[in-house]
Amino acid sequence: MAKQETVEHKYVYAFAEGNKDLKELLGGKGANLAEMTNLGLPVPPGFTITTEACKAYLATREEPDGLADQIAAHLASLEQAMGKRLGDPEDPLLVSVRSGAKFSMPGMMETVLNVGLNDRSVQGLARQASGAHAQTSGGADRFAWDSYRRLIQMFGKTVCEVPGEEFEHALDDAKRAKGTHDDLDLDADDLRGLVDAYKKIFFKHTGREFPQEPREQLDLAIRAVFESWNAERAVLYRRQERIPADLGTAVNVVAMVFGNLGPDSGTGVAFTRDPASGAQGIYGDYLANAQGEDVVAGIRNTVPLQELERLDKKSYDELLGIMARLEGHYRDLCDIEFTIERGKLWMLQTRVGKRTAAAAFVIAGQLVDEGLIDLDEALHRVNGAQLAQLMFPRFRLDHEFQPVAKGIGASPGAASGKVVFTSARAVELAAEGESVILVRRETNPDDLNGMIAAQGILTSRGGKTSHAAVVARGMGKTCVSGADEIEVNVPQRRFVVGGQTVVEGDVVSIDGTTGKVYLGEVPVMPSEVVQYFEGSLDPEHVDNPLVRAVHRIMSHADARRRLAVRTNADTGADAARARRFGAEGIGLCRTEHMFLGDRRELVERLILARDNTEREAALAALLPLQRADFEEIFREMDGMPVTVRLIDPPLHEFLPPLEQLAVNVAVAQERGEDVAQEEALLAAVRRMHEENPMLGLRGVRLGLVIPGLFAMQVRAIAEAAVTVTRSGAVARPEIMVPLVGAVQELETVRAEAEKIIAEVVGDSGVEVLIGTMIEVPRAALTAGQIAEAAQFFSFGTNDLTQMGWGFSRDDVEGAFFWRYLELGIFGISPFESIDRDGVGRLVRIAAEEGRAARPELKLGVCGEHGGDPESVHFFHEVGLDYVSCSPFRVPVARLEAGRAAVETDGSDSR
Ligand code: ADP
Ligand code: MG
Ligand code: MG
Repeated sequence: MAKQETVEHKYVYAFAEGNKDLKELLGGKGANLAEMTNLGLPVPPGFTITTEACKAYLATREEPDGLADQIAAHLASLEQAMGKRLGDPEDPLLVSVRSGAKFSMPGMMETVLNVGLNDRSVQGLARQASGAHAQTSGGADRFAWDSYRRLIQMFGKTVCEVPGEEFEHALDDAKRAKGTHDDLDLDADDLRGLVDAYKKIFFKHTGREFPQEPREQLDLAIRAVFESWNAERAVLYRRQERIPADLGTAVNVVAMVFGNLGPDSGTGVAFTRDPASGAQGIYGDYLANAQGEDVVAGIRNTVPLQELERLDKKSYDELLGIMARLEGHYRDLCDIEFTIERGKLWMLQTRVGKRTAAAAFVIAGQLVDEGLIDLDEALHRVNGAQLAQLMFPRFRLDHEFQPVAKGIGASPGAASGKVVFTSARAVELAAEGESVILVRRETNPDDLNGMIAAQGILTSRGGKTSHAAVVARGMGKTCVSGADEIEVNVPQRRFVVGGQTVVEGDVVSIDGTTGKVYLGEVPVMPSEVVQYFEGSLDPEHVDNPLVRAVHRIMSHADARRRLAVRTNADTGADAARARRFGAEGIGLCRTEHMFLGDRRELVERLILARDNTEREAALAALLPLQRADFEEIFREMDGMPVTVRLIDPPLHEFLPPLEQLAVNVAVAQERGEDVAQEEALLAAVRRMHEENPMLGLRGVRLGLVIPGLFAMQVRAIAEAAVTVTRSGAVARPEIMVPLVGAVQELETVRAEAEKIIAEVVGDSGVEVLIGTMIEVPRAALTAGQIAEAAQFFSFGTNDLTQMGWGFSRDDVEGAFFWRYLELGIFGISPFESIDRDGVGRLVRIAAEEGRAARPELKLGVCGEHGGDPESVHFFHEVGLDYVSCSPFRVPVARLEAGRAAVETDGSDSR
């Protein structure tokens, strides 16, 4: 056979020719069937048509040259191996034609079973079935006609687009006529009648008879599998799962084995461990006297796999042996499909199985214990997104609650609340202190206020990139999108699901991780993983496999990572929590909150100061307050670096809004009250109004324009550091100047700061670093110059993204990002994950040129990207010293920094 194939393209591989690493070419199913064949496991013989053939077909809508001949050659050797010919009227070989792409796309593409049956071979099949076994010919007839009706059904549906319901209805009619609900009660005659009915349906929809020629059936089925790559649901699924559109599917042609030959036959699925919890053991379902999809289609009740031990001990033991072998071979959880034909076990599929986040950690830990993988590999097999999932509170689902619908888990979390259907109502009820869930068919930018007010968002349409999903993720709000079982009726303020009506004010619960929707309030429980991070669960003593696995893998990540992880924290409490979560310093302490609350009044005095004396008085009043804030944080972070950013936002943000002031003034005037102060404020607000405050008087510009402002902050930092150090702790302040675009700006601020620091610090031993944010594109491009005046850079990637793209974050995300995502302009919001090519390039340039100018320059990043898994890998590659993120993301960043080190620096033998 191989000799004839000296043609340029090899489009067809016998199972014996492939292996598990050829997924790209043979698809996951084909590659693993080959692997199992080569392991000597009982796989029915067959061959795989490559994804290359599929791509060639899809490009021209014609089978590529040589494909038909190669199929013929492989079919001939399959026939030889089986001692039967495809569709032979006396003793037919039947085959299945199965899709299988590189990435598993469950249920998205097509499979046709029993190819090769026709009006004559169905008789032959029946004769063979009765002859080969002491079975009544009635049973054998039944089996043959059941197989034939399944072929017409699957072939009609997938190859010729006959509506599947028509076949379903005919089957229901047959069962009704027989007075039964169980298809096993249909006998050979009933099924023969059903075949006639199916053929009529086929003819009605296609205008032709059901094809009797076996090779034609095979060719048409192969072509249909190729075509199914571009079926609408497959395209949609790929977009959602970010699977490339140009991979194509392979086609597997496999000799049929029969699970529907009687009670000593059957079919099942199994996992080598529990994919939900990771627990060791055998998990699966078995259905006797059934074929293929029957198990998952839920037409009859399956039994737990353990029952098979009683039904067929020999096959059961063999299956367990094979499962153990597959786990050892793949060194991972496997999921498998198998069939038993008259007491003989056949393996039809295996793959490394999908699992929950918890199971991913637990299994990785177990496999290390079992010596199958090392800790580097364990680290590689979990990820930050899974860890983040495990840190959300979860619904406690031990009793009574059954989901009424399932959509897409669009933004994780567990939320319960009263149903509302409009943004306005959400805002109203939230103002009364109620938790609400905003339910819409789909959201649009007008729903923004409602989304902010709601505890969670539920939509009946749209996927992971819909408006609702994108905006909810940006806000960190729980969201389930595309729950299409729900019929939303906004005008009537209700939705219907599974025959139940839910009206405004009823309580529902939504799980943004699983996408499940529940009626009523499901109780929530805290995450054990968070309890562990907080120190209230001791991993060495608690009997919780998840906590133990997380502890073990996190410890390894810490040992391996090169990036330090700091946190963004503005208060002592945040700092303390982040420290428990493993933060090694503060990368961003914002000082703006220190100007809020009852301190606003001091800021007003500062802004309204008519001369130096008044301004200095206002600053002098602020100084001790700021100093106290810094002392608290330095004490909390004893020994660790704390980067304090000088004030960044425009000062008018601290004043009341213009409209409110105008009203106040008018009302006071009306009453004849003294309005001098209000009027002065109003005038100041008018004067300071900016069309575009994000690009206005903020950051370093404030320091240069308002005398004494930065000086006061620098003094507060230095004095706090000295006080804390004198009390026996170690303060390591780093002063960070925001929004610098030119070295001259930084030099000016620095000259003033150094004078103050020298004066305050004296011989206390305190060392204060001065550095800058790199967040204006010009700063990144002149980093070599700026590094001359900076001891550290901290990349402010939020602003860098904003200014790099020209996006105003507050305006664009809710307005049109969903459309950009839909169009594939970017695969993920550049505010969520760093845009490597553009904004990332600015980071790279600044890091390289900054280090060239000053080799000891410390480099870090603060801003949302510091806690984003993908971005952490990028920052590792660029060679930053640390990332800084919100306290809750610290464990995620630690884990991903460890993974990045293992992936880019290679394994070591630790
Ligand atoms: P999916 O990709 O949707 O899992 P498969 O190609 O695995 O589709 O086929 C679905 C089911 O059909 C399998 O689980 C198996 O039970 C059955 N099946 C496929 N090929 C054969 C075969 N050669 N003999 C018996 N059953 C088969
Ligand atoms: Mg399958
Ligand atoms: Mg900024």
